[in-house]
Amino acid sequence: MSADLLLSKLEGVRRTGPGRWVARCSAHPDKNPSLNVREVEDGRVLVKCFAECDVESILSAVGLGWDAIMPPRAIDHHVKRERRPFNAHDVLVALETELTIASLAMLDIGKGKMPSDAERERLLLASRRIRSAIELAVDND
Ligand SMILES: [Zn+2]
Repeated sequence: MSADLLLSKLEGVRRTGPGRWVARCSAHPDKNPSLNVREVEDGRVLVKCFAECDVESILSAVGLGWDAIMPPRAIDHHVKRERRPFNAHDVLVALETELTIASLAMLDIGKGKMPSDAERERLLLASRRIRSAIELAVDND
């Protein structure tokens, strides 16, 4: 996401610094550029008119919507980052299941019965599942 699309629709655009521009406001009769446009690190484009025009009017005057200044990531940021409580009981149940599978395989090996490829694969899956549960817990912290 960059300010390029918006800037291409505005008049009197002048760069004032890295990621910063002024332009004539699209939402009010603007002789001297009073619209500030700024790119910020998270990909949003900040738009500010000194005459207090609202951003929606500025965008709609040049036929753009919010998507021109907000990357999809920033729009649904809050929804996606909602914390899912990590249920300790569910984790222990899953862990118990995986351990039971491992124990049964060990018993078989103890009786001289080598695990089949499918059983070996299942044991590796058990280990991967526990690992991803750990990673999930780390992400939740
Ligand atoms: Zn304005």
